[in-house]
Amino acid sequence: MGLEGVPPSASLLSTIRLKMKVMADLRAFLLAIALAAFFPLSEMDASSPTAKYYEFHDNFWMNLHHTLFREMVAGQMDEQTKTKIGLVPVSDAGLSPEEKQAWTSAIHHYADAFAGHRLLFDDQLVTINNLLGQEKDPQKLNPDGLPDDFVKCLETAAPVYRNHWWPDHQKANEQFIAEMQPRVEEFAPLVIPQIERFLGMKWASQPLQVDVTYYVAEVGSAYTTEDPGHTTIASSRDDNHGLPGLETLFHEGAHTLTDKMASAVWGECKRQKKECGDLWHAVQFYTVGVIVKEALAERGTPGYVPYAYRFGLYERGDWPKFRPALERDWQPYLDGKSSFDEAISNLVRDVAVADGRPPASP
Ligand SMILES: [Zn+2]
Repeated sequence: MGLEGVPPSASLLSTIRLKMKVMADLRAFLLAIALAAFFPLSEMDASSPTAKYYEFHDNFWMNLHHTLFREMVAGQMDEQTKTKIGLVPVSDAGLSPEEKQAWTSAIHHYADAFAGHRLLFDDQLVTINNLLGQEKDPQKLNPDGLPDDFVKCLETAAPVYRNHWWPDHQKANEQFIAEMQPRVEEFAPLVIPQIERFLGMKWASQPLQVDVTYYVAEVGSAYTTEDPGHTTIASSRDDNHGLPGLETLFHEGAHTLTDKMASAVWGECKRQKKECGDLWHAVQFYTVGVIVKEALAERGTPGYVPYAYRFGLYERGDWPKFRPALERDWQPYLDGKSSFDEAISNLVRDVAVADGRPPASP
């Protein structure tokens, strides 16, 4: 939801979650069977399905992939940009000459294969992310469905990553899961039925797979692809912890439920001949933020400031136009005082960005 080290901007966010279905050529697989009941905390395991809505994973190959991707992105950036966003490449100080060579050649492979490609929008990268998310053995990569040269690249880099960075990354990921999983399980039964209600769609029958990786380079914080729903979230990001982290997990999950709302927004924009940019994403942020705020208040934590307010999303790009309209036109819908159609119609009437301007989203 933004580049590393800086709060995400609305324009960046707009590029992060466009309502496009990612119909990648996925290997068929089955997700773990949804468990209807929650287990007591004592029975939880960081990588086991323990809840109806979310299933957290801390997967070696996913982490290797996202670390290599980040190092490749860093290698493509000029020093000024890296300094500006606080992107510091991993230190190779402790690497032997052989390890350094193996790691560098893997990053070169990533540059050749993926430079300029987007984690969220590139079909091949989405497919790779989904396939790596199914890897079961941290010691041995299952190559099914993966390009041969990509498999070779990961296998070359794996011992280096395992020896030098994985222990710290794994620890941070497990801490993230230990922190967030109980919170999500507590609040999901309150929050998700409300998201379903206001966005008019049902959560998938299986839990949403959440891969916790130390880095989510290029995107920064988290992203979610669909069919099947799959969230990748960075444990190293401060804003992914605490209550904003809780909201982020619900926000990411809500990305699998936005088709109806986004279609309605686009349809209304077209009908009113208005250019609305990524209004649908602001609606999603606003809706989830309000629901999380109310759920927290209900459980004894009043006064929560939703993510988009707290991190200034409404102050950037087209979003300063969205905020008052959301408060005026969308809030009554969340309060049960107007219908979905009426709220969308009023919202579009009040938020249109300048005529003839291309949408903020790619
Ligand atoms: Zn989003």
